[in-house]
Formats: sequence, C-alpha cells, structure tokens
Amino acid sequence: MTSVSVRDLSLKFGSLEVLRTLNLDIDQGEFLVLLGPSGCGKSTLLNCIAGLLDISDGQIFISGKNVTWEEPKDRGIGMVFQSYALYPQMTVEKNLSFGLQIAGMPKDEISRRIERAAEILQIQPLLKRKPAQLSGGQRQRVAIGRALVRDVDVFLFDEPLSNLDAKLRAELRVELKRLHQNLKNTMIYVTHDQIEALTLADRIAVMKGGIIQQLDAPLTIYNRPVNLFVAGFIGSPS
Ligand code: ADP
Ligand code: MG
Repeated sequence: MTSVSVRDLSLKFGSLEVLRTLNLDIDQGEFLVLLGPSGCGKSTLLNCIAGLLDISDGQIFISGKNVTWEEPKDRGIGMVFQSYALYPQMTVEKNLSFGLQIAGMPKDEISRRIERAAEILQIQPLLKRKPAQLSGGQRQRVAIGRALVRDVDVFLFDEPLSNLDAKLRAELRVELKRLHQNLKNTMIYVTHDQIEALTLADRIAVMKGGIIQQLDAPLTIYNRPVNLFVAGFIGSPS
C-alpha cells in the first residue's frame, strides 16, 4: 500500500523553481531517504509533505487522503529537525506531553504513551531533566520521542544527525534502524550523507536541482547508477 504520494509537485520561491513536477510514491512502512547535495531541494520537498510550505502546483496524498490543503497537524506526520526544537523551559516529560495535552488527550493515555516512547528510546532516566541538561544525542532522542508519542503514520526527518559528532552519529544510525524495525512506520529521511543513506534506506531517491535522478534500493544505486551525477555523488566521501 502507498503511504505517501507526491503528484506533479512544483514549488517556486519567487522566480526560483526549486521543485519541478516531481512525482514520488512511498510504500507503507518504507524507510525512504532523500539524498542529494546542499541546495537541491530536499528540505523543500519534505516541508511540502509536512504542509509547511504553500506549493505552486501538484497534490500530496498521505494514507490515501488528499492532504494538499490540510494543516500540518492534521496530516498524520511527525517531523524531527536538525535543530532539536525542544522547549527549553520544560522538562523532557513536559516536552513529550505538551502537544498531547493541548489536543485534549486523557492523562492516563498520555502517561502510557510517554512510558512507551521513553522505553523505546531509552530516555526514562531523563524525564525530569530540562533540555539544557542533556547531550546532543539525548536531545535528538527526545525530539524523536515527540513524534513517537503522537503515534503518527509517517515520520519526517530533516538531517537529524548532522549536528552530532561522528561516533554519536554512528550510534544513532543503528538506533534509528532499530526504531524503524520496531515501529514499521513510514519514514522519510533527508540527508546529504551517503553512508547514512546507504545504511538506513529501503530505497534512496537521489536528487539534483529539484529533480529525482534515481529512485532505487541502495545496492542498485551503488552498483548501477543511472548517470554520472549519481555515480559521482554516491562514490564521493561526505
Ligand atoms: P536542501 O535541503 O537540499 O539543502 P533546500 O530545499 O533547503 O535544499 O533549498 C533548495 C533551494 O531553494 C536552494 O536554492 C535554497 O537557497 C532555496 N530556498 C530554500 N528555502 C527558501 C526560501 N524560504 N526562500 C527562498 N529560497 C529558498
Ligand atoms: Mg536541507
């Protein structure tokens, strides 16, 4: 079943055409990586799916529903950014519960969800701390937890590991992979890091200049790149 479907999507910033009649179908439960150099339109595409940008043309479907004109909060998506976007004055627990309280969820359901997310992400000992008392990796776990407690169908990640050092990045890659194997949600993951793409993805969409150059399994992209750009980009160190 298709989870996210992008149809003939175009987006301009003024006269700058960033995405050009882009089409993309992502399967239910798939880990799809959007890979490409800085400025190629990865974040723009992700933000269109999230509903954070007004698109110039085209349509977006999530779980079979046309969400092109839906508010971000009604799209069944959770977004995790590179900068963690946690509320600094709130404890970890409050950061996790805040959105659910606003949505009017009963207290015991909120506690149940926080318990589950804290266990999956191994942040139980951190619940009473504030973001300033956490390491970068711990903050990023809490940011993922905020999407997790909302029980969303689709996770959107925009370079979530790029502020972390190499060792932590490698650790969190393994954790993200495990998280996906546990949850089996659809994940769309933006990165310019070839290693991340090759280790995490079920399929990789390689982008250049707002156009998907190749969409294939990592091994296929690695072994049979469709053009010189893909070959060069996958082959070059990050
Ligand atoms: P990536 O995430 O792949 O690095 P982006 O999607 O952020 O690329 O940007 C794609 C292009 O759109 C770039 O040329 C960037 O400068 C431009 N761009 C991004 N956001 C805006 C904006 N809010 N206004 C104008 N131009 C933008
Ligand atoms: Mg970006």
